[in-house]
Amino acid sequence: MNVHDSERLSGLLEQAGYRRAADQSGREADLVVFNTCAVRENADNRLYGNLSHLASVKSARPGMQIAVGGCLAQKDQAAVLEKAPWVDVVFGTHNLASLPVLLERARHNGEAQVEILDALAHFPSDLPSRRDSAFSAWVSISVGCDNSCTFCIVPSLRGKETDRRPGDVLAEIEALVAEGVTEITLLGQNVNSYGRSFGDPLAFGKLLRACGRIDGLDRVRFTSPHPRDFTDDVITAMAETPNVCPQLHMPMQSGSDAVLRAMRRSYRQARYLDIIDRVRAAMPHAAITTDIIVGFPGETEQDFEQTLEAVRRARFASAFTFQYSPRPGTPAATMPDQVGKDVVRQRYDRLIELQEQISWDDNKRLVGTDVEVLVSTGQGKKDAANLRISGRARDGRLVHVAIGEQVVRPGDLVTARVSYAAPHHLVADGGISAHRPWRGAAGSTAPVARRPVPLVSIGRRPD
Ligand code: SF4
Repeated sequence: MNVHDSERLSGLLEQAGYRRAADQSGREADLVVFNTCAVRENADNRLYGNLSHLASVKSARPGMQIAVGGCLAQKDQAAVLEKAPWVDVVFGTHNLASLPVLLERARHNGEAQVEILDALAHFPSDLPSRRDSAFSAWVSISVGCDNSCTFCIVPSLRGKETDRRPGDVLAEIEALVAEGVTEITLLGQNVNSYGRSFGDPLAFGKLLRACGRIDGLDRVRFTSPHPRDFTDDVITAMAETPNVCPQLHMPMQSGSDAVLRAMRRSYRQARYLDIIDRVRAAMPHAAITTDIIVGFPGETEQDFEQTLEAVRRARFASAFTFQYSPRPGTPAATMPDQVGKDVVRQRYDRLIELQEQISWDDNKRLVGTDVEVLVSTGQGKKDAANLRISGRARDGRLVHVAIGEQVVRPGDLVTARVSYAAPHHLVADGGISAHRPWRGAAGSTAPVARRPVPLVSIGRRPD
């Protein structure tokens, strides 16, 4: 969600006349924008460390501006200015569109501006965007969340769920496809509850099917579903819509019913595994991935064993695993029975060891099969005569493909046979059997390789 918002911020600033500075360190920029996240533990330290670093840069460059937005700004509000009084603008998650005006006002009035709203002012998808990829795009279908998981800071920072109308979502996707986009990822904190606000609990499955009717759209992904709201119509829509990728990222968080209850996650292990069984029955080759938190307050050794057991049964293609750490402002932060760091670390290592083995075994099954890869990077070298490109298979796995003498560019689709499997990637060194160049858009130039959107978005002030 933050990467998506960063693309909107860049688009807004470009529309206001800024251009991206060549030097991404911030030393030569007229403006540095931090779009912050509060989910990870070190977000505070990283933000204030970066701001301290920029204090001397700013004092040597009169007129330079610094803006801080995103979840941490929404949480800390004016406290950002108490800790870093050289910041010019603090804005929240609900008013991205205000950034250019706030910068101008801060410059004109010669004083810092803080504007944090409690409710969404503009759906971020309605704002201009400067995407980092020419062929792959995020499309937001909802913002905020109506759940109240006890470890999560999102509802208090992003607010209640607000759904976009399907017509608006599809219009955006069609416009993106006309620009050359071939892959979209539908974004929402809980995509399965999409539609409740306008009275259609089946809206998400219908949206997937509607995406399947868009010519030129090769791949549709989504993140993230919530097991509580996962319904069979979504599984059927996934299985029956050819451009919806056989991939499901569904956070489990814990395999223990007692811990799930304490987390206020309203499904239980049996329900979670049942969804996985039904997804696999409809899509035997789907890659299922998850999020797991280890060491939630009160988690006993028996609870943790149940998580290991659920992982063995679910056989995830991969898992994002987290050691629990308290987030101030969440109910879990003050729960009794916080688990000691050493115990958490030791359980975490056991979980990683198990999941790595499962991931590796799962990837080994694919050796000798053909995979279709959407090329996302230009390449690193295996050796001078054997270049490799990288991209994602339809099921989301990372694949490195040897291209020999062939010219392959980001956005192209190639098919190649898997020759080697590692826990976190596949290698296809036997040559490309099919190649469909990226079609681009009318009047377009070559696509750019997809890069991670930097924490720091930097602009040059309009002349
Ligand atoms: Fe946070 Fe996801 Fe739970 Fe919503 S469903 S409160 S975003 S963890």
